[in-house]
Formats: sequence, C-alpha cells, structure tokens
Amino acid sequence: MPAPFDTQTGHAQHGRYPEARTVEDFQRNLTAVQARIEAACRRAERDPATVRLLPVSKTKPEASLRLAHAAGCRMLGENKPQEAHRKWEAMQDLTDLQWSVIGHLQTNKARLVARFAAEFQALDSLRVAEALDRHLQAEGRSLDVFVQVNTSNEASKYGLLPEGVPAFIQALPAFSALRVRGLMTLALFSSNAERVRQCFERLRSLRDRLRQSAPAGIALDELSMGMSGDFEIAIEEGATVVRVGQAIFGARPLPDSHYWPGEPNTEESQP
Ligand SMILES: *Cc1c(COP(=O)(O)O)cnc(C)c1O
Repeated sequence: MPAPFDTQTGHAQHGRYPEARTVEDFQRNLTAVQARIEAACRRAERDPATVRLLPVSKTKPEASLRLAHAAGCRMLGENKPQEAHRKWEAMQDLTDLQWSVIGHLQTNKARLVARFAAEFQALDSLRVAEALDRHLQAEGRSLDVFVQVNTSNEASKYGLLPEGVPAFIQALPAFSALRVRGLMTLALFSSNAERVRQCFERLRSLRDRLRQSAPAGIALDELSMGMSGDFEIAIEEGATVVRVGQAIFGARPLPDSHYWPGEPNTEESQP
C-alpha cells in the first residue's frame, strides 16, 4: 500500500532519540509513538485497537524500567534471557509488570524463561520448544509464543526460513504449555522502505497461508513486526504487535550489531 512518505525508513533516526529520564519523558514518548501508530492505522484503514505496543527495555537500567512502569507500561520486552531474568528478579515488587522475551534462546536458558516470562517471541527450534514445555510443566505455567521467521534471507538473522514454518507449526501441539499466538520477524536493516516492506509482506502472506492448515488449537492471529525505525510500514502490512525500544526509552549507545551478536548492522546488504 503506497504511503505518503514510504521512500525511506526511519532507520536513519536511530541514535537521535534522547534518553528518557523522567516519567513525563516516558509519557511524552509513549504518546508520540501511539500517535504514529494511529496515523499508520488511518493510512491502512485499520483500528488502532488491533495494534499492541510492546515497549522494549533491553540494555536500559532498572531505574528507567521503573519510570516506564510509572508511565503506564505493563509489559516490557527484553532480548537477552539472563538480563530479562535479572530485571524480573529485581522488580518483583511491581506485581502487575509482565515480561516478553523477544530474543534468541538457547536450550540451556529455557529454565530461566519458563520461570518468569509471560511471552516468548523468538521460538525457532523444536529443541527449544521441548525444553520450554518441560520446564513450564514443572513450574505449572504456560507461555504465549511466537514463531520467529527469517524473512530477510540474511544468514546472520535468527528464525526459521519461511519454507520450514508449516512443518514446524504442525509439531507444536505436542507442547501443551506453549500457547502459539502467531509469527514474529525482524526486517532487513535498510533505509530502503520497499525492501523492508517486502519482509513484512512475506510474514503476513505466510501467516495467511498457514492459517488454513494450522492444527486445531493453534491460533495464528498475531504478527509481531516493526521496531522504532520501521513500525509504521509494519502496521501498513498488518502488524498486530510492534516492538519499540529507542523511540520510548531513548537511543542505545552502541549499534544494534552489539546487541545482536552475529548480526552485522548492515545499512545496505545484498538484495
Ligand atoms: C531491540 C529490539 C527491538 C526494538 O528496537 P528499537 O530500535 O529499540 O525500537 C525490537 N525487536 C527486537 C527483537 C529487538 O531485539
């Protein structure tokens, strides 16, 4: 869908978001992001209530997370299981705060995640599904999960290739503590909006196809896609969850390649 300013993504703005230091800063940033969500929904003729904003607090100190909570955030996204677990432990006094783990998980960290997370957005192997399910059963808990799909075809990105997703989904009903909610992706890091949009289109069309063959009990309603630099495009392409860090918390001091080890921060990679 053509949009008035879709020739560039906001990736170039990374690093320009000032650090949020007060509850008022967080309120202002949340209001601004919500306004951008609503504008994108208007362009796409969507109801803004169908898009959930997940604030991403990775790398930020506990004090910032507490300000975000005071400004109204009730779920926070973290990409590293250990960092998330440490923050959860330190903030148990905030009993209404939930945690979404949005980054790659190794089986040996599944126990940590099973203990505290409400949501896991980066499921990409049956070994991790099995380990999570086993530890969740032991804890008497369940977990909302998203299957991560590599839509950019970059070898450095985590996630299943689209062609592997149908068989993977068929195997998930065996893990009864996992509630499969939908698909998640990270788009190409590019200032070329059309190439970013293609990643989001790929995730949506995969979801639409899978819905017809999904096993009973597997709902594929959710599409988690879009971050500070590209969430408007993701909403135009059907995102139901946008994961936004820097536009709410402020820029991270180091490039994304630092936080996603093994993922080169390619401003322009091969087509
Ligand atoms: C960090 C991160 C985000 C948010 O990125 P921002 O640029 O801070 O908005 C979204 N998704 C994942 C998986 C992340 O690790």
